[in-house]
Amino acid sequence: MTRTSLTQLEARDSFIPRHIGPSTAEQAAMLATLGYPSRAALIDAIVPANIRKKSKLELGQFFDPLPEQAALGKLKALAAKNKVMKSMIGQGYFNSHTPGVILRNIFENPAWYTAYTPYQPEISQGRLEAILNFQQMITDLTGMGIANSSMLDEGTAAAEAMTLIQRVGKSASNVFYVADDVLPQTLEVVQTRAQPIGVEVRTIAAADIGGLSEPCFGVLIQYPGVNGDVRDYRAAVEKLHAAGAMVIAAADLLALTLLAPPGDWGCDVVVGNSQRFGVPLGFGGPHAGYLATRDEFKRSMAGRLVGVTIDAQGNKAYRLALQTREQHIRREKATSNICTAQVLLAVMASMYAVYHGPEGLQRIARRVHRFTAILAAKLGQLGYDVVNKTYFDTLTVKSARAAELHAIATEHGVNLRKVDAGHVGISLDETTTREDIALLWTIFAQGVSSSPASPDFDAIEASAQDAYPAALARTSTYLTHPTFNRYHAEHEMLRYLRGLADKDLALDRTMIPLGSCTMKLNATSEMIPVTWPEFSNIHPFAPDAQTVGYREMIGQLEDMLCALTGYAAVSLQPNAGSQGEYAGLLVIKAYHESRGEGHRNICLIPSSAHGTNPASANMVGMKVVVTACDDSGNVDLADLRAKAEQHSANLACVMVTYPSTHGVFEEGIQELCEIIHSHGGQVYIDGANMNALVGVAAPGSFGGDVSHLNLHKTFCIPHGGGGPGVGPIGVGAHLARFLPNQRSTGYTRDEAGIGAVSAAPYGSASILPISWMYIAMMGGEGLTAATETAILAANYIARRLAPHYPVLYTGHDGLVAHECILDLRPITDATGISNEDVAKRLMDFGFHAPTMSFPVPGTLMIEPTESESKAEMDRFIDAMIAIHAEIVKVERGEYDRMDNPLKGAPHTAEVVTADVWEHKYSREAAAFPVASLRKQKYWPPVGRADNVYGDRNLFCGCAPISDYE
Ligand SMILES: *Cc1c(COP(=O)(O)O)cnc(C)c1O
Repeated sequence: MTRTSLTQLEARDSFIPRHIGPSTAEQAAMLATLGYPSRAALIDAIVPANIRKKSKLELGQFFDPLPEQAALGKLKALAAKNKVMKSMIGQGYFNSHTPGVILRNIFENPAWYTAYTPYQPEISQGRLEAILNFQQMITDLTGMGIANSSMLDEGTAAAEAMTLIQRVGKSASNVFYVADDVLPQTLEVVQTRAQPIGVEVRTIAAADIGGLSEPCFGVLIQYPGVNGDVRDYRAAVEKLHAAGAMVIAAADLLALTLLAPPGDWGCDVVVGNSQRFGVPLGFGGPHAGYLATRDEFKRSMAGRLVGVTIDAQGNKAYRLALQTREQHIRREKATSNICTAQVLLAVMASMYAVYHGPEGLQRIARRVHRFTAILAAKLGQLGYDVVNKTYFDTLTVKSARAAELHAIATEHGVNLRKVDAGHVGISLDETTTREDIALLWTIFAQGVSSSPASPDFDAIEASAQDAYPAALARTSTYLTHPTFNRYHAEHEMLRYLRGLADKDLALDRTMIPLGSCTMKLNATSEMIPVTWPEFSNIHPFAPDAQTVGYREMIGQLEDMLCALTGYAAVSLQPNAGSQGEYAGLLVIKAYHESRGEGHRNICLIPSSAHGTNPASANMVGMKVVVTACDDSGNVDLADLRAKAEQHSANLACVMVTYPSTHGVFEEGIQELCEIIHSHGGQVYIDGANMNALVGVAAPGSFGGDVSHLNLHKTFCIPHGGGGPGVGPIGVGAHLARFLPNQRSTGYTRDEAGIGAVSAAPYGSASILPISWMYIAMMGGEGLTAATETAILAANYIARRLAPHYPVLYTGHDGLVAHECILDLRPITDATGISNEDVAKRLMDFGFHAPTMSFPVPGTLMIEPTESESKAEMDRFIDAMIAIHAEIVKVERGEYDRMDNPLKGAPHTAEVVTADVWEHKYSREAAAFPVASLRKQKYWPPVGRADNVYGDRNLFCGCAPISDYE
């Protein structure tokens, strides 16, 4: 008997076969179906030779894959280099207690975090209800008519609000005022967004806004201000309205439980961040930003909106409303490019409100406020001058010894806000205790002559007064809906969360074959570090000395991504792919300007592009010129060449996706890059399809100048039901110095760099360990194998389904890249069965639908990824073949054209078990089209959602209380 060597025994612990679904034997069977002897031979036939990577990935210390435990150990050592301090920095980010029931059952629960954006409403009712709760919570707390779900952070929410009021307002002015006590990081994002669209941002002292007489289209105020002041803007808002301007308030949700909300005093838009509702600091993100506005502006609002509609049986159902406003339809006319949002974090924040209820939230707010009042009194006794006389939770203390105070605080494990050389800021929060106040007393008493002995807590507390203007005390009610008042016992909450999750299909139940979205495994070991305190309890503006581990991990991830993409430098600041596009285009603009060619403003975009591409180009002030695709779906190089020539003098860039959104490796990509470069343009390669490239080809090597990646697609960050995401950009060496800064927070990468595109320097830093873990555990060999297997899997599905559904576009030898488009249009013409009918019917089989009608209307786009086993793919293929057999029955007249299992799909348990069954097909055909469903069956909670009804009768809040009676 041969003895297995120790090395072989150790190799068995590899993560690679955990991540890659099909075993070696299964891959051999798949290859046999395709007629290729090996994976390598298949890749040779698919990927054009001229772009192939010649050498192995240069991953340095990360080339060899690490077993799960070893990778966790290595990351833990990095995490240990962070220093968790008690943050009292505030400035938009606060400590909070994530309720355990939310931490474990949402944040750490794959039923929630592996779900996709709820485009298919019937299998998303749970998360749709949760985000509807978020909208209701924001609407109530801000006192506005309507709120979306959600924005990427407070900074971008403010920027979107600025463009919203410019669109809907009547002012002809291009001037936008920002109060000088708006969060500095917000101001910087607003300035970045304003510049390319010709908006002039001016700052103004908050106290002077009432006297503003210069014309402007809008004003942004902070409530309470960054220094803590609670200002009464009621008269100012009236005056501004009279002068034709609109007012945006950036407001703190916890403060709004005590303070009159901006909606009650006339504001037009309210924005902010819901982080302090139970979401960890995470060194800056992810957190859900919010945007609320007047009901009359609902059709002009950016971002996603959940609305109520009815299903085929007339029952209530939730769905995403007003999809027509999405970038896919408006394209270069779109005013916002937001796509992936912050759904998981919005769900957490809304559940925090559900769990605490209005009284619980108000108790937390009152406690924070009382502690602040006690602290103010104590500081007064020590002889300090608290500059702000009104406050909610933040004090600004005048002291010539500011630097010394910071040093003393640091010694005691506390971070205070560095206001300036003569002032120190202190922000309290939900986690503040009596001990913390005593600690602050100790810190501030040091060096004070004749410091009195620590006074009696209760004596001060008895005399501590509310410190906001009495006229601004909240009188309106909020969170009165039953949802916010019935789940305060943990059992009730646990079951509410479980009940919602059970309504949905996520990756924990089925493959989600969404083309372009790369719904691959989100491994548990990748997720575990996210909630380590060394990563989650770090304030984004904590001193550098406390964030060494974070920055080292980020530096390593940047290096990894450079190696994988062939670019020279990477910025992890953008909070989603859309934001990466925006940042990348600004970098291109800055490059042209640096060469005295700032006039270059033409952006060529093929007609097959994702909607975010033209929307982003519009937002940076570029002019979109659409180029054609040929009959086989490729970019029409002749047309591209002609348009590049025509616009040669003004050509800024091209934006192409590679491999194409049609799922094909276009042979002409290098030539395309050369054409653009020869006319002085830059090449932006949308990296959403990077899962077909890693280890095989690198955009930075075959001609790209900039790409964004979607870490929530290729690099395993879960979709979270529609966010969070991370959309880093990689750039060539000539563009590296233009990458984004966040100067207001002290993050200056290079003076030549563009302004901030996110509020925090490293965007959604706390989820970066997910991608770090993935790359570390896969190593060079595993990552390349993943890409090759993803391509193999897509081709296997395409080949197996081709006899039943035509595959629309293929490349060499009838092969596709990592996804394939099934053309349902001939079937629709012949039988009336649409791609939507097939998508809905898949739900009866327990599957999530493929991508519908993108990039080609009337089609389905399937991307299995490398993580699905052959067994799961075969289950899907069997379902699709069974559905095809049903279509054939329709075609032959064996099924009625209108009343058949496809048109009736999805079928709820209620429909199937009703005493009355009047359909022209059997109940059994409806519910159990294949035998395996008898053992395990997902029941959609609602029938087919009525899209038109929901948009005509737009309603975006919780059901009125009368519905519950
Ligand atoms: C997903 C995607 C985007 C947008 O990315 P988000 O993270 O959703 O903003 C852009 N382009 C393509 C091709 C995509 O598939």
